[in-house]
Amino acid sequence: MSRALFLHAAGDARIAPYNLREGRADEILLDVAAVGLCGSDLHYYKDGGIGAAAIREPFIPGHEFSGWLTEDLPEQGLGRGALVAVDPNHACGHCAHCRAGHANLCPNVVFIGAPPYDGAMTERIWVPKELVVPVPQDFTPADAVMLEPLGVAIHAVDLARPRLLERVALLGCGPIGLLILQVLRVAGAGEVLACDPLSHRQQLARNLGAARVGASVEEIVEWTAGEGTPLVIEATNAPEGFRDAVRAARIGGRMVLVGIPDGDSYTLPASEARRRGLNIKFSRRMGHVYPRAIELVATGKVDVGAVVSHSFALADAPEAFRRHAANAPGMVKSIIYPQPDKMPA
Ligand SMILES: [Zn+2]
Ligand SMILES: [Zn+2]
Repeated sequence: MSRALFLHAAGDARIAPYNLREGRADEILLDVAAVGLCGSDLHYYKDGGIGAAAIREPFIPGHEFSGWLTEDLPEQGLGRGALVAVDPNHACGHCAHCRAGHANLCPNVVFIGAPPYDGAMTERIWVPKELVVPVPQDFTPADAVMLEPLGVAIHAVDLARPRLLERVALLGCGPIGLLILQVLRVAGAGEVLACDPLSHRQQLARNLGAARVGASVEEIVEWTAGEGTPLVIEATNAPEGFRDAVRAARIGGRMVLVGIPDGDSYTLPASEARRRGLNIKFSRRMGHVYPRAIELVATGKVDVGAVVSHSFALADAPEAFRRHAANAPGMVKSIIYPQPDKMPA
């Protein structure tokens, strides 16, 4: 028997026991050390799905996770008990997109923690051995969890290709936005003008090096005397995120959309976008980013801990969903710890 958090429908998260399935020969069993609550998990909770990916039967979310190996993994030189991260994206490896190097766009993907595939908000999980990512053994379980969202940020900045000292508008200072902010600085971008409606997130963005931080895109427009910035990165959950990104962009500018909008639709006045002649990219998940994510954390160039605001035991995970969905004060990133005896102090 194992316990897990099940999402049954919008607004319905429950902890329940279940029988762990049998593993396959290409899998290894992990004791889950820590799991991140991601904005996409929250979309499943708030909306009951993301576009066509809807909850049809109760499923276990959780794609950002770390765990301890329950047996040796000689293929990777790892022993039983080693802390590892897991890349949740099990691409097919043989479709045209995988072969072109875009495993993040594979239409045949088995993504751990996206319906119908169960995720890691549970005590134990079988994962394909090839998805196990070794991490430095001085990493905490939360550090290893944060490699996945950090990978999303690295991928977004890879797509954005900031020029040296280029001014950037950053919309949204949630966990992904705050990680993008830090990666932009490592990548040599110039001033980052950020906005977020929540004051505690504004303060974090200031602490992490944003040049100016406001509550809305109007302030970014004002700071640039109405011109906008040459590069805009959008990491909000708002249907207006696309529109606001357009408003923050200079004529001929570049834009990368990372956020997932509530309700799965954008609000966008076409003329505003068209008249600027923008170059727009949509970012999905990530490419081959784990080695760089590990190096950024190991060298201290990115402070993933600064983004983590709350820790919850698995039993309290439904409460974590409730608080995030309600935008409770101070919530940024929550980490869930499924082993009650191994919660950090
Ligand atoms: Zn995520
Ligand atoms: Zn594929």
